[in-house]
Amino acid sequence: VPLKPGRSLMDWIRLTKSGKDLTGLQGRLIEVTEDELAKHNTKENCWICIRGLVYNVTPYMEYHPGGEDELMRAAGTDGTDLFDQVHRWVNYESMLKECLVGRMAFKPVAAPKGKCLIFILLSIVFNNSVQYLVNTGNFIQVQILMLQLKEYMSLPSRYSYDWFQTDDLITIVIYTKKKDMNAELVIADCQDKRLRAEIILDDHSYLVEVVLEHAVQDDFAVHIAEKVGKVEIILTKEDNIQWKVLGRPLESHNTFIERTDRGLFYRKCQLVSKTEVTHDTKLFCFMLPKGTHLQVPTGQHVYLKQIIAGTEVVKPYTPLLPFLPLDFKEPSCQEGAHIYFMIKIYSCGLFTQALDHLQIGDYISVSSPEGSFKKSQAQTVEDLFLLAAGTGFTPMVKLLNFALAEVSCLRTVKLIFFNKKEEDILWRNQLEQLALKDERFEVQFILSEPTKDWLGKRGKISSSLLSECVKRSRKDSKVLICICGPTPFTEQGVQYLKDLGYSQEEMHAFTA
Ligand code: FAD
Ligand code: NAP
Repeated sequence: VPLKPGRSLMDWIRLTKSGKDLTGLQGRLIEVTEDELAKHNTKENCWICIRGLVYNVTPYMEYHPGGEDELMRAAGTDGTDLFDQVHRWVNYESMLKECLVGRMAFKPVAAPKGKCLIFILLSIVFNNSVQYLVNTGNFIQVQILMLQLKEYMSLPSRYSYDWFQTDDLITIVIYTKKKDMNAELVIADCQDKRLRAEIILDDHSYLVEVVLEHAVQDDFAVHIAEKVGKVEIILTKEDNIQWKVLGRPLESHNTFIERTDRGLFYRKCQLVSKTEVTHDTKLFCFMLPKGTHLQVPTGQHVYLKQIIAGTEVVKPYTPLLPFLPLDFKEPSCQEGAHIYFMIKIYSCGLFTQALDHLQIGDYISVSSPEGSFKKSQAQTVEDLFLLAAGTGFTPMVKLLNFALAEVSCLRTVKLIFFNKKEEDILWRNQLEQLALKDERFEVQFILSEPTKDWLGKRGKISSSLLSECVKRSRKDSKVLICICGPTPFTEQGVQYLKDLGYSQEEMHAFTA
């Protein structure tokens, strides 16, 4: 929502650093009961619990980018689920640390039968530690233990790892027994003896995470036996000594859980180049560390993290290719050691201004990928429509490349690209060249603020415009319409398409 002047994230950061008492408790931390939490449920007096910690968000109301009403949905309650649904990537601990009231008090109630069973199981598995924690009122740790038990119980035995060594190599083997394993599904980082290898298995992931017994060289190899789903990570020993153990397991080692239950993992990447795309948009190229194996899948985004005025700020961005390939006979070019972003610099943007001030050689933290788009949605498509507004073009780049290079039944791809002015159009030359080169591809530019000389289409997204521009090439052709841009653009687009008779399966909206 539009925020009032003086209510930007930067203004919020300034307020939190001003020394003002934002909780009304003069720095005291308290234990909050459910009844007490429920009393603080108005805009003027609003407390919210996230992961067992209670925040007084009253002073934050006017600064919330999603608006006061969104925040009020969690007023006086545990807002953890709501928070996770909307933006689990936002670093609330850092942003709201001055609003911390305290933690939830454990409520001693007679546990229902089911819970009793879990408590008994937990006690057995964790050597009665739960009982001790319950007795001492340490509710948060009980929750952590319950989560660990959930993970433990949900770990099917078919996921496992093994390791062996030669004089100079350590090979870690992960058996997923999943067909069609590929490099995008293996995210591995090895820095300062800490090895983290995450294998993506649909909505879950399997993790090997250890502090290695001895030092290894920075770079490593990943080999994948696609048909049997075997993944090998081959490390080179720093010294030719025999290892007795692989290393010390970290907290989430050898777990198989839902991806959304894992915290975001970041690695530091170095800015290699920054080139102008238009008057306000730049192409950033970052180099991944030597000890990282990461390929962002088509249609997915990552989070970039910077410390701005002492506060961690995180924003999502969609990696793309450095240019639009024109030849699809060769296998598509992979990011490899580099990751590219096309980013619009807003004159009053907190994050993009800081990005624009990065010097070549500076570092930024880049998370592992996220996003709901699956290549299988486009694998059998005949007509692909891409509706993009402004930088909403970014996910379309890899998608376009994937469709033209790998979808054998594809007949047409049409990009309908909405911008304000002619000078805002991203990669116009490349898109026009591609349209000339490949007869399956067509691009249409639509401007909302054109000059009188503009001969192309003008206007905003609307039902009539979509019914005119989005048409199946044959009566029953299999169609996919992907849409990305400012949230209202995307929401309106989806609604118009529904009204025009397209089904949910025939659309994909890119969102956070
Ligand atoms: P803020 O400080 O948050 O806002 C400053 C001003 O900038 C606002 O008042 C407004 O005028 C303008 N502004 C800020 N954000 C937006 C917005 N989202 N839409 C319209 N106007 C805005 N951006 C890219 O440039 N490239 C990408 O590849 C990209 N990928 C994204 C992927 C996802 C999944 C999502 C949800 C967003 C993506 N964005 C992308 C947008 C990006 O995350 C930031 O919102 C944007 O860079 C602005 O951040 P800021 O901190 O500079 O602006
Ligand atoms: P912009 O230049 O402000 O606008 C581009 C086009 O979109 C213009 O034609 C504009 O028309 C139209 N538009 C803007 N707001 C609209 C609205 N409310 N309703 C209908 N049409 C609207 O766009 P931008 O600054 O580049 O912003 C791009 C957006 O894409 C950002 O919000 C970014 O977060 C989002 N994005 C999302 C993802 C993702 O994966 N979810 C990826 C990349 C970018 P008007 O002149 O009429 O406004």
